[in-house]
Amino acid sequence: MTVIYQKVALIGLGLIASSMAHAMRAKGLAGQIVGHAKSAETRAVALEIGLCDQVFATAAEAVAGADLVVLAVPVGAMAAIAAEIGPHLAAGATVSDVGSVKQAVIAAVQPHIPMGVHFIPGHPMAGTEYSGPRSGFATLFDNRWWLLTPAADTDNQALNRLRDLVHAMGAKVDTMDPAHHDLVLAVVSHTPHLIAYTMVGVADHLAQVSNSEVIQYSATGFRDFTRIASSDPTMWRDVFLTNKDAVLDILGRFAEELFVLQRAIRMGDGDQLFDYFTRTRAIRRGIIEAGQDTSAPDFGRVGPSKTHDA
Ligand code: NAP
Repeated sequence: MTVIYQKVALIGLGLIASSMAHAMRAKGLAGQIVGHAKSAETRAVALEIGLCDQVFATAAEAVAGADLVVLAVPVGAMAAIAAEIGPHLAAGATVSDVGSVKQAVIAAVQPHIPMGVHFIPGHPMAGTEYSGPRSGFATLFDNRWWLLTPAADTDNQALNRLRDLVHAMGAKVDTMDPAHHDLVLAVVSHTPHLIAYTMVGVADHLAQVSNSEVIQYSATGFRDFTRIASSDPTMWRDVFLTNKDAVLDILGRFAEELFVLQRAIRMGDGDQLFDYFTRTRAIRRGIIEAGQDTSAPDFGRVGPSKTHDA
């Protein structure tokens, strides 16, 4: 493939940035990849395993001369990073991000983007429960959605160039309004994560079930909750703090449905439970038909982990 950006600066060198670095290198999409992360340890690992050609102690140094800058830090860290790099961005450069929430990131970053620099927010809907510079792999984005939320007046050429990169890294690209993105993600990712965190917390507090029983019989569904509930605490804290309205809206609806099912169980209303579970089964079939998961038993588990949307 051909080089799409001459110099890519990755700010934050965790799961998503390292997967991007591997994917760009595997396909020759970047002339040079440079990076910055908060800790000297992460920066050293990024050099050691060849994620970056060069690393810098500050984000401001890393973005100098870059034609693509990707903000791959937790959502809560975006504002300070944007303020730091703003004055150092090259004219004509594109700045994107990979944050799991879009409206809050746009509010935090946009004010620091100078005239002549294109800000195109994005969100790869792919992840694992692992984090850090060693957790990335080149195929993370294969056949997964990467949502871009450009403003109405975004430069078309800059948008198409970023779209080309995302495509070349293996992902499918779609554009979306930021508010709609945040609502959709509250349904498909954020609230399910909160429910998983809660369920694992419930098991932890349940005195009647000994720890060994919870672990021994965890393959009956609980295991998948524990995998999701082991996701990075910083990232998920920031997601809930910054996508508050949409998550509270969906949680309210969730609580209402839960009460309906709770009542059906209490009243012994088998028909209602059966109809409900029949509808949800159809949704699962739709996901498999859309190629977003496997129909293999136990989710086609072959190793200790599999990827998920995030
Ligand atoms: P990660 O593996 O935890 O890595 C985060 C990186 O950001 C680390 O390199 C960390 O540096 C760096 N960092 C944190 N605060 C910083 C600061 N103030 N200044 C400079 N560097 C800083 O995170 P990730 O999973 O790649 O997530 C990154 C972004 O992608 C988040 O916004 C998240 O919402 C989004 N996202 C995540 C997933 C997922 O499943 N993980 C999926 C889609 C989108 P140190 O290592 O030195 O601490």
